[in-house]
Order: sequence, then C-alpha cells, then structure tokens
Amino acid sequence: MPGYQKFLHIGLALDPIHVGAGGARLGRVELTIVRDPATRVPKIPGSSLAGVYRTYVAMEEHERNPNRQVDGQPRPYYPHCAGLGQPRGDYLGHCAQPDCPVCTVFGFARGRDQAGGFAGLAAFTDAQVLLFPVPTRQGPRWITCPDALRLIGLEVQGVNRDAVYLNSPQNNPLNLGWLLLPVMTCGQFQNIVQSLQSLGVPPYIRDRLALVPDRLFAHIVNSNLEVRTSVAINPATGAAEEQALFSYEALPRGTVLAWEIIAKNPRHFQIQGQPISAVSSPDDVHAKVQLAHPYLEHLGVGGMGTRGMGRLKVLSPST
Ligand SMILES: [Zn+2]
Repeated sequence: MPGYQKFLHIGLALDPIHVGAGGARLGRVELTIVRDPATRVPKIPGSSLAGVYRTYVAMEEHERNPNRQVDGQPRPYYPHCAGLGQPRGDYLGHCAQPDCPVCTVFGFARGRDQAGGFAGLAAFTDAQVLLFPVPTRQGPRWITCPDALRLIGLEVQGVNRDAVYLNSPQNNPLNLGWLLLPVMTCGQFQNIVQSLQSLGVPPYIRDRLALVPDRLFAHIVNSNLEVRTSVAINPATGAAEEQALFSYEALPRGTVLAWEIIAKNPRHFQIQGQPISAVSSPDDVHAKVQLAHPYLEHLGVGGMGTRGMGRLKVLSPST
C-alpha cells in the first residue's frame, strides 16, 4: 500500500469569499485577502482549509455519535476535538485517542506536559484560483492561464502574447474588466473544456472560458476582486459606530478553486504506541475529510459569514 495518496478537489464559490490577510492594508482596502507571495494571485491558505475542515468533520462526527465517551467520561467530538486543542475553561482540548476520526485525521496539539502531539493524516495544499469570472461586453467570461491549468495536470503551450485566447476567432478586441485585449485562438481549447467537464465544472462556466498568459492573469484577477464597504456595529447599542465604515475585498461568487488533500497511510503511524484504529487506509482518511463538504456548501469558509459570504460547493470529487 502506498505511503500517501493525493486527491484533487475543485470548488465553486457560491458567495464572495474573504479569507483575511490579517490587518494588511492595500491602497484603499482595509481588509485584504491572502495572496500568493510569488504570483500575487489571491488564495485560501491550506492552514485555513485544514481548520474549517476539522471543525466541520468534528460537527458531523458529533451528529453521528452525540454521546461519545472516553474512559467512561463524556467527551463529545464537538467542540473538544475541533479548535486549537489547548484546554481552557470548559473546553477540554483534543482527545488525542487513536480511535478519534478528528484527532487522527487532523492531528492534535501537545498536552499540558508538552508530550505527544501528532501532525495528522490529512494535509491540505492552498486552494488556488483555477477559473475567475470577469465582466466583458459579451457577458461574463471565466479566465484561466497556463499556471492555473497546471493545477489540474494540463500543460498548455503558446499562450504568451498580450491577448485573450478564445475557442473561435473574433475580429474585434474583447475587454476583460477595463482591459481591452486582441483575441487569439488556442489549439488546446477543447482539451481544456473536456478536462473541466470531467471535474464537474458546470456548462455555463466552461462554455464561457477565456485564456490569458500567466502575467496578465494575476493583474486581471486583482483588478476584478469584489470590494465591499460595510459599517461596524456597536455590539452594546446595535447602532452603527461613527466613522466605522470599512472596506474589504473578496474572491467573487463564481470563482473556481483547486486544492489537493494528501492522505497519509494510517498503517505507517502510531499514537502513543498504539495503532490508529479510526481509519485504516488513505481512502478512509479521504472519506472522513469529505464529511466536511456539505458544511462547506452551507456554512462556508473564511470571514464575514454573517454577511452572506464564504459558501463553497465542492464540484469534484462528486459525492
Ligand atoms: Zn479527538
């Protein structure tokens, strides 16, 4: 049996998604989102994904077994096996049991005595932008680029002019947001569309595809992020705080993201000298992780959840 197995995931933003960079300020936007330091394209860090997946798997395991006990004492999966794991007040921290599907799959923190600690059987890559919706005078187009298509195992050649590459030729230039570009064609277009179809990307997106070179992709994405302005509410009075208007950016609804989950083989690990019994194969680990997907679709990822943000529908693997 292999030491690990990789599972590609494709998700569609049902709402704008804001995963904050933590106080960074960019121009006039106060709450910026996380960007890849090399490409400047926004992304959802793997650590953020791991955190939300953990919480949702703990919720689901709690639903399935609300009376769970450890050593004869009640020890519900949620909230104790979710969260950061350091016991505080009524929060007991991670249970760290070899039969716990949350603690084995997502790892657990060291105990008070600094003993133990386990990295977890599932690892998450960053969720990167695969397809990004941009307004054009012909309606929305979903742009992608050779770098992004590499996420789904495609090598696309020849997309390197300052142009937008479509399936069929067009005499007039096309605007992507405010950027006007000449139209060219790409011979691998059908191939790309078929790959996206096999990954569950819906027809209204794959029929409106456009390719741009890598260097233009970051520029167009960053110029077409959703920026919203909101007002801070004073929790005591329920009224708007004076001068508390703030703006935040988000990946727009319709963005398609790609990430990988690497599932390690449980047979290669022990927890405090005991074999792991919660899961027995990389497929098992992946099956546990996938319990989070309905929650991602309904409760979402990232900040501003109370403002109708963050819902992410997993298109692939389909369940
Ligand atoms: Zn646990």
